[in-house]
Amino acid sequence: MSDDQQKKNARHKAAMQKQKAKVDSHIAAADTERGVAVLLTGNGKGKSSSAFGMVMRALGYGQKVGVVQFIKGAQLSGEELYIKHQCPQVTLYQMGTGFTWNTQDRTGDMAEAEKTWVEAVNMLTDASYDLVVLDELTYMLAYKYLDEQKVLDAIGQRPPEQSVVVTGRGGGSALQALMDTVSEVKDVKHAFKAGIKARKGVDF
Ligand code: ATP
Ligand code: MG
Repeated sequence: MSDDQQKKNARHKAAMQKQKAKVDSHIAAADTERGVAVLLTGNGKGKSSSAFGMVMRALGYGQKVGVVQFIKGAQLSGEELYIKHQCPQVTLYQMGTGFTWNTQDRTGDMAEAEKTWVEAVNMLTDASYDLVVLDELTYMLAYKYLDEQKVLDAIGQRPPEQSVVVTGRGGGSALQALMDTVSEVKDVKHAFKAGIKARKGVDF
């Protein structure tokens, strides 16, 4: 090995040792064991698919999972099909077909939202659920279909060991303040804007 390579390797080792010490100290400092509340927001693609990634993680450990979808698209998504057909252990509730972006029926949508919220509350008050996903919940707050305080209270008062994942653009500052982890997915670019059709297995 050349002198130059040896020096590079030594520098790399020193940098890695420093990084490991930093990571180890953060791990040692995190001494609270409880469920976490995660908000996945922003205008980029990746919110719901990340939430379903966590569903898979939880299932890998045999955990109990509940999923409530607050906006039901016209197109069935792969994760819906997979959960329905391959994961009978996952409780899945979807807002009725009564709701679409196109119903333009505020009263009907609000009634659907309330009905769906009841299912969410059933999960958020049941300590046997390890993970609860509230997909696209933020829009119910943005449209004021659900009372914000009621939603915040239910998430905040859930069983301590239960984790919850909320997805959707926006969500408001009070929700962001309540959640333990908040990630904003940035829209750098999206294939659709270049005329590429939504892709099975990637977009739905
Ligand atoms: P995904 O379910 O793929 O993780 P998401 O939950 O972040 O996406 P949603 O707003 O729920 O985003 O929209 C879901 C659908 O819209 C997906 O088909 C996704 O590819 C598409 N989409 C998401 N963000 C954008 C965007 N910025 N421009 C165009 N299409 C988008
Ligand atoms: Mg989504």
